[in-house]
Amino acid sequence: MNEREFATIRVANVSVAFGGIAALTDVNMELRQREVFGLIGPNGAGKTTMVNVLSGFQRPTQGSVTLDGVEVGARGPHYAARIGVGRTFQAGRLFRDLTVGENLTIAAMGAGLGMGAARRRAGAILEWTGCSEMAERRCDSLSYGNERRIGIGRALALAPKFVLLDEPASGMNDAESDALMHMIASIPGEFGCGVLLIEHNMEVITGACSRIHVLDGGKSIAEGSPAEIMHNPDVRRAYLGDKAKAGATPVKAA
Ligand code: ATP
Repeated sequence: MNEREFATIRVANVSVAFGGIAALTDVNMELRQREVFGLIGPNGAGKTTMVNVLSGFQRPTQGSVTLDGVEVGARGPHYAARIGVGRTFQAGRLFRDLTVGENLTIAAMGAGLGMGAARRRAGAILEWTGCSEMAERRCDSLSYGNERRIGIGRALALAPKFVLLDEPASGMNDAESDALMHMIASIPGEFGCGVLLIEHNMEVITGACSRIHVLDGGKSIAEGSPAEIMHNPDVRRAYLGDKAKAGATPVKAA
């Protein structure tokens, strides 16, 4: 790749079937390194299955996922991580008996940095998360919201080209979600890294994403800017209608 160009993940005609269940059917989308790309849809739409495909945990039944032409899932999740696809997990994955700083330093060393450089990178990431004062705290003492933020920091410490965030705001209150939205929106500029964001909180999605892709029952039903998605009749029928009734539909666009 030319240094002036940005990496791209291409999802081409991807289908995933679990026995008789079609979790994804012929999905096409493109993730670009310098943008936050949202993936939304009702429960069971196939969002987590897509994250698993993108991170090498699930082989597609049909189709391909490539990062600058290299098959992402060819050799499992470690290979996907090595070529630049990082992710967070709903259940954390921090070393709970180590400190926050140690967790981030270990991750940065995993990206090939020596101890000194890894510590500096960990410090810079901690500052970005707004958790600098927590460097010496053990991870098992973190609040839920802080654990989530440090989990994202840990994924970024590995210097990925793309990071996949699966419902990072779940369980957060409004203030925490808002802070998280600003953090996520700043990832491309701060880390030169693309983001795939799955989130049910539409304030977070529309505030952080430049493009949004909508799945329903494993199929793509729309893709566009936050404003286009919010006004798309198919999306409102399949997904946003209930949220609008519940008062959760924002009018703000990125
Ligand atoms: P949610 O918002 O509820 O997390 P989702 O959009 O992430 O949903 P998936 O978890 O990807 O949806 O599930 C898509 C479909 O595939 C569902 O019908 C689900 O039951 C099914 N599915 C997912 N994983 C498996 C599996 N390992 N075995 C069988 N079926 C599965």
